[in-house]
Amino acid sequence: MDNKVFDTIIIGSGPAGYTAAIYAARANMNPLMLTGMEPGGQLTTTTDVENFPGYPEGITGPEMMADLQKQAERFGTEIRYEYVTEVTLSSEKGGIHTLKTNIATYQTKSVIISTGASAKYLGLDDEKKYAGSGVSACATCDGFFYRGKDVAVVGGGDTAAEEATYLAKLCKKVYLLVRKEEMRASKAMQHRVEHTANLEVLYNHELLGLEGEGVVERAKIINNLTNEEKVLTVDGVFIAIGHTPNTSLFKDALTMDETGYLITEPKSTATNLPGVFAAGDVQDSVYRQAISAAGTGCMAALDAERYVAEFFEEN
Ligand code: NDP
Repeated sequence: MDNKVFDTIIIGSGPAGYTAAIYAARANMNPLMLTGMEPGGQLTTTTDVENFPGYPEGITGPEMMADLQKQAERFGTEIRYEYVTEVTLSSEKGGIHTLKTNIATYQTKSVIISTGASAKYLGLDDEKKYAGSGVSACATCDGFFYRGKDVAVVGGGDTAAEEATYLAKLCKKVYLLVRKEEMRASKAMQHRVEHTANLEVLYNHELLGLEGEGVVERAKIINNLTNEEKVLTVDGVFIAIGHTPNTSLFKDALTMDETGYLITEPKSTATNLPGVFAAGDVQDSVYRQAISAAGTGCMAALDAERYVAEFFEEN
């Protein structure tokens, strides 16, 4: 470990992390970004992004992340392709935080956590085989590509209900595969599902596999009460069985909700520890959009800058 103490270190390299980097770098904080194991984050696994303001023709997820990286580097962000393995976070105002990666150990006055969340998948080989070719975990990202077509959604919680009703506005027909005989979603969401004409709920049904030449054309499903198998003709399958926030590193140090999302103070990105800020999906189970993540990334950089100015610069 060298003796350098960074003003801020950003953990994670999705839209929240890069936006924080752009703002922190332009404020002369010389940020260090530790990219994590999936540089660019969830957007590198999507195809076209058409809902990020400023791209009238749309842009691919990987291109957008490359642009964000260039913009962050242009102002002096140092980017290292390392992943954090251990954190020692100070609980003192003006304390120094220590981050250990697979390669080195760093010290910093402030930390911006933007480690994101990962969509859960069922674990079928076909999910990988057709990733980006008919399998998605985000209806607001990819639903538009299925307009006028038939699709299936897997899951029985609020996410699945929301994705299914969203898709029903775009698609000809939506099947919702719920593995139990009832949904876990709130009553209000269930009511909306039941009152959507082109949405058919198949209770006690599970996805077995997918078929098609290069892209999804059919879904094999099973009724888990009768063991009867069926084939649905669909062009897409949306897996909506929840997300896991990437917060295991902070388990003993930071306040989280019951599902592991970091809790930040209202109108702020401050966590329960001074100098530790959180931005993007790691603290947002509700909106989960690139643009909302970028917005909180900006907030985190401003919060970190003010914190460092207040507790370090006048000493
Ligand atoms: P949940 O954990 O609430 O629900 C996951 C669903 O996926 C459950 O129905 C579960 O089935 C099902 N599931 C899990 N694993 C499998 C599997 N292997 N095969 C088939 N089905 C499976 O996750 P959500 O993402 O829906 O919601 C997370 C949190 O976010 C909740 O608190 C929710 O209320 C909230 N939320 C709120 C929204 C809103 O208010 N607008 C929108 C979206 C989420 P089972 O029930 O059988 O376990």
